[in-house]
Amino acid sequence: MIHDVAVIGGGIVGSAIARLLGGTALSVALLEARDDVGEGTSKANTAILHTGFDARPGTLESKLVARGHELLGAYAEATGIPVERTGALLVAWTREQLDALPELRAKAERNGYTACEIVGSDEVYRRVPHLGPGALGGLTVPGESIICTWTTNLALATDAVNRGVTLLRGHRVTEVRAGPDFSRLATPAGEVAARWVVNAAGLGADVIDRLFGHDRFTVTPRRGQLLVFDKLARPLAPCIVLPVPSPAGKGVLVSPTVYGNVMLGPTAEDLTDRTATGTTEEGLAFLRERGAALMPRLMREEVTATYAGLRASIGHDDYLIDLDAGRRYVLVAGIRSTGLTAGMAVAEHVGSLLAAHLDLAPRPDLPAPPRMPNLGEAFPRPYQDAAAIAADPEYGRVVCFCERVTRGEIRDALASVIPPAGLDGLRRRTRAMNGRCQGFSCAARVRELFEGETA
Ligand SMILES: Cc1cc2nc3c(=O)[nH]c(=O)nc-3n(C[C@H](O)[C@H](O)[C@H](O)COP(=O)(O)OP(=O)(O)OC[C@H]3O[C@@H](n4cnc5c(N)ncnc54)[C@H](O)[C@@H]3O)c2cc1C
Repeated sequence: MIHDVAVIGGGIVGSAIARLLGGTALSVALLEARDDVGEGTSKANTAILHTGFDARPGTLESKLVARGHELLGAYAEATGIPVERTGALLVAWTREQLDALPELRAKAERNGYTACEIVGSDEVYRRVPHLGPGALGGLTVPGESIICTWTTNLALATDAVNRGVTLLRGHRVTEVRAGPDFSRLATPAGEVAARWVVNAAGLGADVIDRLFGHDRFTVTPRRGQLLVFDKLARPLAPCIVLPVPSPAGKGVLVSPTVYGNVMLGPTAEDLTDRTATGTTEEGLAFLRERGAALMPRLMREEVTATYAGLRASIGHDDYLIDLDAGRRYVLVAGIRSTGLTAGMAVAEHVGSLLAAHLDLAPRPDLPAPPRMPNLGEAFPRPYQDAAAIAADPEYGRVVCFCERVTRGEIRDALASVIPPAGLDGLRRRTRAMNGRCQGFSCAARVRELFEGETA
């Protein structure tokens, strides 16, 4: 079969593009190298739904982050992706940073975001009483919110499959044979043919780009390490606490998570190894040092987990999205540190480029967006829902006690449209093994359920 479009990469960006194209009469395949969607950068970020207040004005990134904030906010409501509208407070710790606040507010306004306000140190400490000493003032960003990145990726991919997209996991594209009418993509699991190809391969986008005959950029993985604190720390972080950004990036922040924890990070380290998602002693020591200044009280709380993600930096201060009509190929690269927010807007932008070549009229018979299981602490979960438990007692049988995940939720995840390929995928779909014991108590039982259901 020759697909109309093959999208390479089952992260948030590729899944959003496949979902959008799946809503038309085109036949679409979504190829993912790994055995699950959302296994790349999209699973390990700081999970903030950005407003784009601090983007570089006039860039494609600035436009798509603002649009993505709107699109994903609405999509989250429709699908049940947990979002908490906590807002953010950007804190100035030096006279120089304090002097920079008016320009940051003006920049936000140039980005179309007009809700920022400059506040004095009294207001800073009123909003975040546990901040370390020395804050001189701040800038409020009420629209910054926290979101579940795992559910976002899964909702977009599930929606794509429900709309008829063929999801091909375990299909790493290793070679491209371009013909006059279509391209053949070689993968270890067989060849896939498509008239058009969209490259949303994240950290692997430059490799695919070269397979299409280009040589225009190299991906540098920029690692971000993070510390996750136990749920008892959550009252310390009523909102996202941001530093004043520098040319090196957005800097180290303290943020609540939708799972009820607090996170501290990320670092920004340019590497060469695209698989280096481990944390390091130096990275965590750096975060502890930053954390001790930002919020000393947080450093006395217990750490539940550490993790790291890799931003796909391309040495170009904007997204790089380009349509090559001759090769019937679209490049989507450099979606570095804002792609969770911007993914749906990137898809819309890619759609607007492809519309000159393909009929992208929406099908009249589109299925409703999927309703995703709630992983958010701020919204009712099955173990709290007496009616759900009465109707189905499996929602009353807790398997993971730290995160209060029930057998019913694990069963549902295993029977879902895109079932997990392993225990880590099951964790991202249910929160099982994601709590303070990190699976010490429940992993054997969760594995038993997983193997029972998948045998
Ligand atoms: C530390 C950190 C913090 C961040 N914080 C935020 C935040 O708070 N808010 C926000 O909006 N964004 C944030 N981001 C950015 C965001 O996570 C990314 O921009 C986004 O996840 C990129 O999605 P993607 O689909 O482009 O890439 P990925 O999720 O990496 O997906 C690309 C996929 O392509 C697949 N692939 C690669 N090569 C091939 C091949 N040859 N064949 C088939 N498949 C292939 C990979 O396996 C992968 O699954 C952060 C990133 C990091 C690292």
